[in-house]
Amino acid sequence: KKDNATNRAVVIGLGRFGGSVAMELMRQRTEVLAIDSNPKIVDRYADRVTHAAVADSTDDDALRQLGVHRFHRAVVAIGTDLEASILTTSLLGDFAIPSIWAKGLSRQHASILERVGAHHVVLPEHDMGERVAHLVMGRMLDYIEFEDDYAMVKTTAPAEAVGRTLGEAQLRSKHKITVVSIKRRGEGFSYATAETVVRAGDLLIVAGKAVDTERFAELT
Ligand code: ADP
Repeated sequence: KKDNATNRAVVIGLGRFGGSVAMELMRQRTEVLAIDSNPKIVDRYADRVTHAAVADSTDDDALRQLGVHRFHRAVVAIGTDLEASILTTSLLGDFAIPSIWAKGLSRQHASILERVGAHHVVLPEHDMGERVAHLVMGRMLDYIEFEDDYAMVKTTAPAEAVGRTLGEAQLRSKHKITVVSIKRRGEGFSYATAETVVRAGDLLIVAGKAVDTERFAELT
């Protein structure tokens, strides 16, 4: 079993985002200290997290009293209050917490959060907006873009590959994508190999540069 300090996390701000983070951490059997300045919101989480506390996270002493400075992982999930989000992140930075995640509202906010000590900044609305744009316009069933323009896409098998093995179809050299996994109707996903035969209606998980995966998903 992992030692106590690494198998626990503090989540600050229990709005929709922070609440989801806290509940998912609990499902992963991580001990969660959940903090919010609103007592009504903290009440709602009292029975659902390891420890829920009312505190203003911009208050150094309040955080120390809760032992926040001893955590190895923290998530700042304060939404609209930019000042509170930045001050809280900077306090956690001063505590030298090794892994600080913060939610940003914009690129500018994200860059400030990084400057004051966040190790990872997520922009949920921005990122989800981009993702939805890809899904709305394309033939992709799912789309994840990583850093540096690399993406993974779930799409249906193109006609040119149907009835062939992946080796014969030469999708990698023709389309600069790699088929990672393939799913037959009524079956689960399995690893794709050069011998895997593609059938009409198969779903493919494809990895490659974002532009190449998108172009590939447009094929039918
Ligand atoms: P979401 O969009 O994820 O719902 P919100 O902005 O609605 O985000 O929620 C952020 C939460 O952070 C709220 O529950 C709010 O009470 C809490 N919060 C805001 N400022 C502080 C603070 N200084 N200390 C602790 N919690 C705070």
